[in-house]
Amino acid sequence: MDIKKIQGVGEKTASLFLKLGIRDTEDLVHYFPRDYERFSPTVPISGAAAGELCAVRGTVTSDPLVRRKGRLTWVTFTISDESGSMSVVFFNAPFLKNAFKKGTVRVFRGRVTGEAGLKSIDQPVAYKVEEYGALTGQMLPVYRVTKGLTSGTFRKAVKTALRLYSENDVKGDYLPSEIRERAGLMERERALYAVHFPESEAELRESRNRLLFDDMFLFILKVRMEGSGGKKRISGAPMIRVAETERLLERLPFELTGDQLKTWREIEGDMTSEYAMNRLVQGDVGSGKTVIALLSALLCAANGRQAVFMAPTEVLAEQHMRTVSEMTERYGLPIKPVLLTGSLSAAAKREAGESLRSGEGNLAIGTHALFQEKVEFRDLGLAITDEQHRFGVRQRVSLAEKGESAHVLVMSATPIPRTLAMILYGDLSVSAIRQLPAGRKKIRNAVIGAGDRDTAYKMICKKVREGRQAYIICPQISEDEDSGLKSAEGCFRELSERLPDDIRTGLLHGRMDPREKKEVMENFARGQLDVLISTTVIEVGVNVPNATVMMIENAERFGLSQLHQLRGRIGRGDEQSYCILVNTSSTEKAKERLAVVRDTNDGFEIAQRDLELRGPGDIFGSRQSGEPGEIYEAMISRPELLSLADRESTCLLSSDPGLSGHPLILSEIRRQGRRVFDERSL
Ligand code: ADP
Ligand code: MG
Repeated sequence: MDIKKIQGVGEKTASLFLKLGIRDTEDLVHYFPRDYERFSPTVPISGAAAGELCAVRGTVTSDPLVRRKGRLTWVTFTISDESGSMSVVFFNAPFLKNAFKKGTVRVFRGRVTGEAGLKSIDQPVAYKVEEYGALTGQMLPVYRVTKGLTSGTFRKAVKTALRLYSENDVKGDYLPSEIRERAGLMERERALYAVHFPESEAELRESRNRLLFDDMFLFILKVRMEGSGGKKRISGAPMIRVAETERLLERLPFELTGDQLKTWREIEGDMTSEYAMNRLVQGDVGSGKTVIALLSALLCAANGRQAVFMAPTEVLAEQHMRTVSEMTERYGLPIKPVLLTGSLSAAAKREAGESLRSGEGNLAIGTHALFQEKVEFRDLGLAITDEQHRFGVRQRVSLAEKGESAHVLVMSATPIPRTLAMILYGDLSVSAIRQLPAGRKKIRNAVIGAGDRDTAYKMICKKVREGRQAYIICPQISEDEDSGLKSAEGCFRELSERLPDDIRTGLLHGRMDPREKKEVMENFARGQLDVLISTTVIEVGVNVPNATVMMIENAERFGLSQLHQLRGRIGRGDEQSYCILVNTSSTEKAKERLAVVRDTNDGFEIAQRDLELRGPGDIFGSRQSGEPGEIYEAMISRPELLSLADRESTCLLSSDPGLSGHPLILSEIRRQGRRVFDERSL
């Protein structure tokens, strides 16, 4: 049902929802909370610890005072209970002076700051005692919202959407009850309700289990039904070793590391055997996977066949295009690269398509647009997917279908557990690149507080004047008051004014026009911009070795592996690189997590520590459910649910391979496919 069917949601609110990718009631009920407000019982004032979110019940013991300094005003007063007293501060709300007369009793809920004796609670929410009593123990959902949309509006809309959705769209639980019972899972409809409005932590846990199970179960079914994955495929026309690749190896400005060379020889062996290759190359960021892809494509081209090279973002695809074109020219390689991305003009797409159909173009480089649109190859021999973890598996499978016997090479910087690899790819060989190229200096990391930003900016200016470049990464594109997070647009505006004139700044994010994006990225790569302020759209693969400083805003908001990926954009050349993580949270947890990234540069170790440190809930609700990236993360962090989903899907498919006896499951699989990865939200 259209979102506007919800009472209170008009054109304007609907357009705000649309910004978040929510069109209808189904989208809305699947937009899971990012967190929950928990209303815990009140604590005595003496027990309210600094840095923590507390509720205290106190009597106002001094009449409120209004103070002013410049444009800032604040109201302060003291509250007490049997255990002690503390002050309460409200900023920029002088009218509150009259709301808290001496003698008033209220529950104040907010973050506590300061030391014993000088303790205060800043900007709390005040409740009447009975009111707080009713709230105690409740959990209210908190959503990732956008400017103009409050959590309150959001909650109300979700509540109505849940009702409309279950009245109109739900046709009972699609999961057969025997599976549900065997696996000990909650009913789907109840889980959908409970994930938004849980009555207890236990209910929340159960609802998440059910929803994550569904994501995995449906996903595995889809992969198994679509994929030929697993069986050894006979190679259509075995390739032969060629002199071109050896010549390239000799002429490269660097020598391959031992691991790179070993990996390349394994690939060469696969591609020249009678079976089709199915190989995963795992190598940490900066380990040099691109050159391996180029060698493989070259082998394919020299054998007179075509290859594709896929990247998860246009920014990365364009960068690969630049690298390959440069190398092709410099070394006179028999490669004719063709760029194919979603934002090409219709005419350019047609031209690219023709070149591939005729066989003139022998290396297609692009984004998933390559899969979604009808591209025909004359003779596809090799499909390479870069940064595989960012894709759904669906794309990989449909690509392999374009060339029945094509070799498949996937490259990833994220370690994949063996069980998951087996589900995704069936029988798959793995090459690991563990060494980094010689001469790389270890990245130096620091975690700083918001108060140290100026020092960081100074350091960036200093490095720029030494000829280097820098990235500043923000967690969101535009400002919104609710979240208080740094936005790329806001940061760009601020720094364009604050930094000295000789520092050239640029802005990059997923909602920009593709042409603009391309131009900014090229300018940065050419050194015509010094500081690039960006969202995570540069997370994967971007390679500008002269960029040696990265500052990450609200670093506590990112996943640890994601921080590691981001940091992988620096430390790519011989110069010393620096990564500055800005921690704007005061929790111990944030400190501990960021310390992991500060203290090691090893991606495998970080991934491991990340799993240990985060609760099962943390991966849930950061984005919309059902996205490939999210399912993927869930499968890694919840191995017990994964094996449950694996077992149940195997069992189901063995009794009903086409699922013709389970139409509800089939339609649910299609539904999941609808919620796809959208680069523009980065
Ligand atoms: P990733 O594995 O993250 O995709 P890239 O392939 O982008 O890494 O390589 C990072 C940088 O290292 C590139 O500038 C590349 O030219 C360079 N590089 C790759 N292999 C070597 C090597 N053996 N020695 C020196 N530099 C290398
Ligand atoms: Mg790469």
